[in-house]
Amino acid sequence: MSQVIGMKDVWDGAIAELRAKAPTSFDRWFCAIQFDGLTDGVLQLRAQNAFVRDFVTTHHLPLLREKIRERTGLAVDVTWIIDSELADPVSSRPPEPVGFTTPSTPPPAPLEPVVGEATMREPLQLRDGRDGLPSGLNPKYLFANFVVGTSNDLAHAAALAAAGAGSVRRGNPLFIFGGTGLGKTHLLHAVGHHIRASRPQARIVVVSAEAFTNEFIAALANKEMDAFRTRYRMQCDLLLMDDVHNLAGREQTQEEFFHTFNALYHADKQIVVTSDRDPRELERMTDRLVSRFTWGLVADVQVPKLETRVAIVKKKAQLEQLELDDDVAVLLAQAVRSNVRELEGALIRLAAQASILGRRIDLEFARSVLASSLPARQQPVSVDEVIRAVCHHFNLRSGDLLGKDRHRSIANARHVAIYLCRQRLKCSYPELGRHFGHRDHTSVMHAVKKVEALRENDPEMRGHLDAIERRLGS
Ligand code: ADP
Ligand code: MG
Repeated sequence: MSQVIGMKDVWDGAIAELRAKAPTSFDRWFCAIQFDGLTDGVLQLRAQNAFVRDFVTTHHLPLLREKIRERTGLAVDVTWIIDSELADPVSSRPPEPVGFTTPSTPPPAPLEPVVGEATMREPLQLRDGRDGLPSGLNPKYLFANFVVGTSNDLAHAAALAAAGAGSVRRGNPLFIFGGTGLGKTHLLHAVGHHIRASRPQARIVVVSAEAFTNEFIAALANKEMDAFRTRYRMQCDLLLMDDVHNLAGREQTQEEFFHTFNALYHADKQIVVTSDRDPRELERMTDRLVSRFTWGLVADVQVPKLETRVAIVKKKAQLEQLELDDDVAVLLAQAVRSNVRELEGALIRLAAQASILGRRIDLEFARSVLASSLPARQQPVSVDEVIRAVCHHFNLRSGDLLGKDRHRSIANARHVAIYLCRQRLKCSYPELGRHFGHRDHTSVMHAVKKVEALRENDPEMRGHLDAIERRLGS
């Protein structure tokens, strides 16, 4: 059972990515092929005729195999069967009862508008899809599937409040920010699901900033601004906007969104926005939008601690009906530290490899799979972990690093810590300044440049950095 689920995820995920890249071509060609299975490293496909087979082989298979390899860590071979009776789109075939056969959740039906790709005549909100969900809400992103820990408890509570539940006051707008793969979109959609369940008539619009921009541009070009505004300002009870940082530098779209925001806000409609950074750090965003983003509640999601990561792995395994020993869950959570999406990816890879190779997911197997897939990659760590590693190496206290002492050896260690945070965590200079005793951003920039230069030219510095990086687990 568990193995089938693992493969289903692999196939679903791979073709969904493929479709996202070229939906029109995907729909045209994939409606004439069928997935028969993936066993012993062989992907079995069925095509209506040789022409379809050859086209898909040339134009889609390289990427498809690549996507499957990303998910399983294995290169698969492909075998074809020609089946002239294969007239139905792959998505309408009933699932096969056993084995790694047709996915039980069909791939997106041909030509179904995807959120953000909708045209002006296909409004986004409350288009009930086959699964009965308003299109655009991911059915898995429920509050019930979200694991709460100290890294995300405020954002979770604020999202519940925005959905009309929970104990904290409702903030409007709710602004959720944080690094990639940490659950922002999940919480955003959870608000949508919750409101939909409690107020079925509520009109929910879920849209990424990118899609909002594209629709706005299309509406301008097609002289359909009235329809656009009606949709976003009049026919919307809940606006869920994902990745608002992507409005950076788009002045006209920001202006439009500003008016959308005002209309909804004054009509007391809930707005939830996600972003990869704190509103005050948004670049090329008009001040009046930034200020509105801070009117309600601002909550961040951070990298979850080990216990939360273990709980997330277990939750995901339970949802996917995978049997997973506790020690394997811990191993995974220790191996993938910075990003929940990658953590899930590692679990799926493990399940997929177990299924393809016919193995049980025990600790030994998990170790071998992780060893072959993870060590080459740098695992980002937290600022605290960098500071601890640097202090340990130079035999200092963290207070020394964060303080003002300009003694050469202390300043040197501080510069190393700043450099590593920049390199490993991609911290912005103002962020670094704040972490390291409220220094201004030019001085942290200097520190980074200095260590970069020394790393090139000074073997002693290289030795320090290598030792600390080993400690951090590069
Ligand atoms: P973001 O939008 O912050 O980049 P997502 O919301 O897309 O991240 O989350 C990435 C993946 O990790 C999703 O599959 C999501 O369900 C999962 N995830 C993230 N945080 C949690 C959590 N606390 N509990 C359960 N799943 C989580
Ligand atoms: Mg997201």
